[in-house]
Amino acid sequence: MNQPELWRIVKKQVPSSLVQALKKQRYHLVGNHSGVKRCKWLHEALVHDRPCYKQKFYGIKTHQCIQMSPALYYCTQQCLFCWRAQNGDLQVNWNEMKLPNWDPVERIVQGSLQAQEAILTGYNGNPKTNWRKFREALTPRHVAISLTGEPTLYEHLGELIEAFHRKEFTTFLVTNGTRPSKLAELTKEPTQLYVSLCAPTEQVFNRVCRPQVSGAWKSLNETLGLLPSFRCPTVIRMTLTKGLNMENVDEYARLIAKADPTYIEAKAYMHIGFSNLRLGFERMPAHKEVYDFAQRLAEKTGYKILDESVDSRVVLLSKRESPIRFGSG
Ligand code: SF4
Ligand code: SF4
Repeated sequence: MNQPELWRIVKKQVPSSLVQALKKQRYHLVGNHSGVKRCKWLHEALVHDRPCYKQKFYGIKTHQCIQMSPALYYCTQQCLFCWRAQNGDLQVNWNEMKLPNWDPVERIVQGSLQAQEAILTGYNGNPKTNWRKFREALTPRHVAISLTGEPTLYEHLGELIEAFHRKEFTTFLVTNGTRPSKLAELTKEPTQLYVSLCAPTEQVFNRVCRPQVSGAWKSLNETLGLLPSFRCPTVIRMTLTKGLNMENVDEYARLIAKADPTYIEAKAYMHIGFSNLRLGFERMPAHKEVYDFAQRLAEKTGYKILDESVDSRVVLLSKRESPIRFGSG
């Protein structure tokens, strides 16, 4: 099925103005509810030889990464700092929790590969493209299941991860932690599992993450308690937003102790995408502010600062001496 046909089907489920807004932001639609978007770092890697921080920290190759979501329009939260289009943005309304008929895994895998190929076509003929990397990029090896939306809403998530692994991909899965039973039931663990922790207390959580399901804070806490049972490396991912969620390090430390993650990634909110409609530029902390926060967290948790990326305003903490690396990058 070609892209115009796909957009026609999707328009029946979500408003066409949303579809247009996403198209404008260069989302590639896959099936009825999935999508791929070029990560800015893919471009940086291919044209300016600059890898993303996940290559720096964990060795996955930026130019061989597909950034995708199997639940493009659906989420259990409406975080203020999120770059995705949310119900109400641009006066576009739809029910983010009215879930669709889910596509089969193979459709999403094949569609994602095709979308990535289409994205890469733009670099063929660009005189600034690094040709060695371009050739490698044509065989992607990593999937970031994290673009927008809550991936655990997708019914066959474990099978999706498994299908990518069968094709020798590594997978990094990012969840907001509001669906602990779905995580516990995963038929296949991702290569690395991220859980977002963006509030130290329920009160801040309700204000910043704006859950759309009841009991979300309790569910998140349940997920934190589940993390030690995973065999894959686990990450507590914090999106730090000035004036909203950068206080109360003691409570953060208490929650992190429960999860006992392999890593903590403390990262600045970025004033991009549809978050511009909800937050001002001044909400974005400078790298130094993120680093100071990470230092306070290190003191309270016993985790050490292992690495940082000034460009991405992110600091990596762990109890390990060095991160586990998955590729030769
Ligand atoms: S791992 Fe994340 S930051 Fe790096 S290229 Fe993939 S999507 Fe972009
Ligand atoms: S949980 Fe993730 S996708 Fe959902 S609103 Fe928050 S940041 Fe966006």
